[in-house]
Amino acid sequence: MQAAWQARDEQPERARQLADAELGGPLDAQAGIIAGYLLWRGGDLPQAAERISRSLLRLRQPPPSVWLGRGLNILAALQSQLNRPDLAVTLYEEQLALARSIHDPELLATALHDLGVELRFSDPDRARQHITEAISTFDSLGYDFGVAVAHLNLAESEQHRGNPHAALFHAQAALAYPGVHRHPLMAAELHATLLATYHALGDPRAHHSADSLRTLTEQHAHPEVHLSAALALATHAPPPQAADLLEAALQRAQELGSHTLLPAVHEQLSAAHAALGNHERALHHLHETLRLTRERHAAERHQSFQSFEVLQRIQALQELAEQERTRNTELSAHLQELRALNSRIRELGRTDHLTQLFNREHLFREGERLAAAATAHAPLAGAIIDIDHFKRINDTWGHQLGDTVLRQIAALIRSAAQPGDIPARYGGEEFILLRPGATAAELAVTCRDLSRRIQQHPWHTLTPDLHVTVSVGVADTPTPDLEAMLGTADRRLYSVKRTTRNAVQHQD
Ligand code: GH3
Ligand code: MG
Ligand code: MG
Repeated sequence: MQAAWQARDEQPERARQLADAELGGPLDAQAGIIAGYLLWRGGDLPQAAERISRSLLRLRQPPPSVWLGRGLNILAALQSQLNRPDLAVTLYEEQLALARSIHDPELLATALHDLGVELRFSDPDRARQHITEAISTFDSLGYDFGVAVAHLNLAESEQHRGNPHAALFHAQAALAYPGVHRHPLMAAELHATLLATYHALGDPRAHHSADSLRTLTEQHAHPEVHLSAALALATHAPPPQAADLLEAALQRAQELGSHTLLPAVHEQLSAAHAALGNHERALHHLHETLRLTRERHAAERHQSFQSFEVLQRIQALQELAEQERTRNTELSAHLQELRALNSRIRELGRTDHLTQLFNREHLFREGERLAAAATAHAPLAGAIIDIDHFKRINDTWGHQLGDTVLRQIAALIRSAAQPGDIPARYGGEEFILLRPGATAAELAVTCRDLSRRIQQHPWHTLTPDLHVTVSVGVADTPTPDLEAMLGTADRRLYSVKRTTRNAVQHQD
């Protein structure tokens, strides 16, 4: 795509082919920028506006790239042509900010230059500042043509502001560009500026500029060169020579095809003939001026109208896309929030507040599910763990210490649990540990270990003389009857309570 971009001015056909090959592919947006540029250069403003705007819709999505900047630049130039300098300035400023953020000096220099040119008449000081910065950036890039064009623009605006010395300086700087002879129109504009400047300063070097303009018209068949040279020379010539010069240029231009400068030539011719007293010729050229101006305005209006429509449509699309993007971001943020809340609610719904173990509801829900899957080969085992003489602990040290004991017992049960186990608070000072795929004997091994750890836990750090033990009844079931299994475990627990306490029983 870079090759196509580079070829856009010198070999537009090649650029078109390269871009066409990428249309519809992953580089479609970039190809659209080149196609849009070529359409714009070809004078098809509505189509160009459509292409560029569509590409921009996609290129405005992150990450930002130089292609976004290129598209903004072309659309800005287009808006300027459509008589919307306000929109043009906004787009150039967007390009400028982008160029600075992605550190692209070429994009930066182009933005500074074009924004400066756009602001030439409305804000000349800012314009001069931007174009001057553009010159040093072009210079650091070794882009001589850019430097020369920027000097030409500064020369013209200084001349316009009535600063002939500054105009002279910039016109000479532009003329020092060695490639200027390859751009006869640029050379004609420079010599025209110099001619006007020398005249303003009463400098005899005006003759040199006039000679250079004549030489240029002899060397080049380009109608625009002829017309701008004739216009410049005629401005400073007495009416008879002015009329001759302009008539000759007009004839050349008509042979070569019409041009946008034609109305200006007719207007100046009309003035020259009026000065010579030839009112019939003066009137004729005034009519021509009017006719050509009207024609051009009609054509421009037509293009403007069509382009305006396209741009409106694209703007609406862009707004829609933006709304959708915001809505999607908001939605996904809400969704995430909802998911987080949901899982928190689910967690709360199955957790015992004091101990953070599973609560009774979850225990029975999961227990039923695990019991339903139990078989003789993979039974479900369950243990009921009851703290010994817990009432005494409460009575002796208070309810708050009792709560701490419950929490620490819960933590010990959790650490004894294996993945897949359900450790839960059954109620009060009773806990249950379910283990799928295990026998009562197997779970009893874990419970004995747990009971040892509980007994050896440093309870005295909570309060001196505190000792805590548990009694455990264990059972298993190969059937879905969870309640029967828990009933058996409970019976075994009570058998421990009746005898020794601080023990684990898994058989009758
Ligand atoms: P045993 O060895 O026979 O099991 O005697 P025990 O005192 O542990 O049994 P009992 O059922 O007589 O007493 C249980 C006590 O647990 C009664 C109640 O106040 C206390 N308890 C129940 N829930 C909580 C709780 O959430 N926090 C505290 N601190 N105490 C609780
Ligand atoms: Mg109890
Ligand atoms: Mg108890």
